[in-house]
Amino acid sequence: MTADIIDGKAFAAGLRARMAAAVPDFVARAGRKPGLAVVLVGEDPASQVYVRSKGKMTVEVGMASFEHKLDAGVPEEQLLALVRELNADRQVDGILVQLPLPKHMDEAAVIAAIDPDKDVDGFHVVNAGRLAVGAEGFVPCTPLGCLMLLKDRLGDLAGLNAVVIGRSNIVGKPMAQLLLRESCTVTIAHSRTQNLDAVVKSADIVVAAVGRPEMVKADWIKPGATVIDVGINRVPGTEPGKTKLVGDVAYEEAAEVAGAITPVPGGVGPMTIAVLLRNTLVAAYRREGLPPPELA
Ligand code: NDP
Repeated sequence: MTADIIDGKAFAAGLRARMAAAVPDFVARAGRKPGLAVVLVGEDPASQVYVRSKGKMTVEVGMASFEHKLDAGVPEEQLLALVRELNADRQVDGILVQLPLPKHMDEAAVIAAIDPDKDVDGFHVVNAGRLAVGAEGFVPCTPLGCLMLLKDRLGDLAGLNAVVIGRSNIVGKPMAQLLLRESCTVTIAHSRTQNLDAVVKSADIVVAAVGRPEMVKADWIKPGATVIDVGINRVPGTEPGKTKLVGDVAYEEAAEVAGAITPVPGGVGPMTIAVLLRNTLVAAYRREGLPPPELA
């Protein structure tokens, strides 16, 4: 193993600590806590776990957490009415509707109903557009977390070759936009990319956001490259009946070649909630007409 491990868990803890230190300043100036509303529709077990930890960490940094649970069978209009209520609620700075939604609901319509200035997930088309043109808005949490880890490791990213594998609206595309904003030379690869191994080999920075266990092999990676593994894949473990999490990168072998690499778990994963809280605090400052603090 030659690569440095990029410890996202430690970075995320540091970011949350900086937020906890910043929240009292907001409370003193605004006379209220920053507030995050999380809406969960249905009983999806993974979503329940995410919502619980989001609520817990929101409270831990000193912000107000508002949880709204709706039954899986509610009509879409009921969810839209709740979103409108939260848009109008002065105590709520950030609104997150936990995805996926039940099949009878139109996710795009629900996201479109969120006030873009409270869209701390950064999924609203207005925020996607703001990111594309370089305007102030909200950036999806996972790619923004990846960028924070990259800048912490590498400093100035200008001129570096970056390859993003994956072009989803929530990870790949915003990741590519962020790297472009940092003046990287960016290639976006996807399922139709030819000679993916050679494309990846040209990269100083590799961001893998595919959802295919251990797809990126050591011999795809340029020696010394920085590798950010967004993938979360559950695969059979070594003991019968047990499972384990792996990323999109073959970690053990890739770590022999890369300069630095994020592990799975403990790399990108912990960053997502920390950045969600960061976006919420920034939203709160902006809504009060105050300049947000530099957090990362
Ligand atoms: P999507 O399924 O939406 O997108 C996957 C992308 O990978 C698509 O653009 C697809 O290409 C591309 N792809 C699929 N197969 C290949 C292949 N063989 N070669 C090259 N590209 C391929 O996934 P997400 O972006 O939502 O998530 C990606 C991964 O990141 C998942 O493992 C997910 O669990 C994880 N994730 C982790 C988060 C966290 O850490 N907090 C948050 C969000 C996601 P095409 O467009 O051509 O189909």
